[in-house]
Amino acid sequence: MENILTPKIDNPSDNTKAAIKQMSYELVDLENENSLLRAILASSSNPILITSAETKILYVNQAWENLTGYSFEEVKESNPRFLQSGRTQKKIYKKLWSALNQNQSFSTEEVIDKRKDGTEYQVYSTFFPVLKDGKVFYFVQIQHDITKRKQLEELRKEFLSASAHELKTPITMLKLLSQAHMAKAMRSKDNSVNLKDLELIDRELNRLTRIIDDILDSSRFETGKLYLRLEQVDLMKLIKTLLKKVRVVAKDHTIVITQSNDKFYVIADQERIEQVLLNLISNAVKYSPEKTTITITLKNINNHAVISVADHGIGIPKGKQSLIFDRYYQVKAKEKKGFGLGLYIAKEIIKHHKGKMWVDSIVGKGSTFYFSLPLIET
Ligand code: ADP
Repeated sequence: MENILTPKIDNPSDNTKAAIKQMSYELVDLENENSLLRAILASSSNPILITSAETKILYVNQAWENLTGYSFEEVKESNPRFLQSGRTQKKIYKKLWSALNQNQSFSTEEVIDKRKDGTEYQVYSTFFPVLKDGKVFYFVQIQHDITKRKQLEELRKEFLSASAHELKTPITMLKLLSQAHMAKAMRSKDNSVNLKDLELIDRELNRLTRIIDDILDSSRFETGKLYLRLEQVDLMKLIKTLLKKVRVVAKDHTIVITQSNDKFYVIADQERIEQVLLNLISNAVKYSPEKTTITITLKNINNHAVISVADHGIGIPKGKQSLIFDRYYQVKAKEKKGFGLGLYIAKEIIKHHKGKMWVDSIVGKGSTFYFSLPLIET
């Protein structure tokens, strides 16, 4: 049978014959390569979609058909925008097209698309243009289906927040009960009730309440449901008032504040800023030896109030310093001095106030935690 890949030329020279032979080998190779690539695309478990430069669908693989519920015949030549659910952040498409227009590849964050039956699915996608002589020929999109993972994440968030809420009522009841017993024991001087035990129960209940509040806060950040009661706040006044209360409980440390004549007014949720400071001070107490000093400083740097809490404690290794702001991260989890949520929450609160939080620390010498808040003119 005639080889259709071999062109017909009358009286070819030896060189031409050799060149034709080479060319036909290469064409056969190309055909083989083509079918190899097709086999790889077809069998990939990642959904893949290829469009022309004009974004008309030219190819989808089986995994894509399974994910979307559409067959290739149904979508051939159409623009893939019919998949959009309208729930993907607009900025993702903007970034995508600005990269593709510069002939660069782009990996998206979560894209939410919809199937043929109207249900939604979520993917991470990598897009890249295929170029020939500097011109786009195809756009290739390789997807990674994250729908199941997202559903599990949602379930985890809901479970955590619902169970934390459920725990609040019985704990409040127990607390009221223990306080009533403590009051009774103090009044009646009844020795059969051990006041120390009741105080221990009360302390542990307070600890449990704090952990539950932290879990609830953390799920508020995840779901974007943190509400701030913003007002004008005098930071120096806030710190001084807070320190009066803190010194009563943190008796084993000396807590000082470096005075400044500057005015520090910010727009903030007073309670939330107190929560951040309290967290930093209680960490400084937890992670530094008794009788050492904790210093709080307030400075104006580039129209930002920068508050620092410095201790002479165990310090944090360089490699761990960025990790301590992650959820549940603890440098030495075994010590169980906390739950690993405090700094995560503190940093999120400060971010919600358009500020920053960071740390400077030397192992064995101590740590200084900083946060900044934009100052306002008064
Ligand atoms: P925890 O409830 O464990 O204290 P945090 O989120 O407040 O959680 O802190 C995370 C981790 O960072 C702590 O477990 C501890 O290892 C480290 N850390 C925080 N503050 C200090 C500090 N002042 N000195 C040394 N280590 C600290």
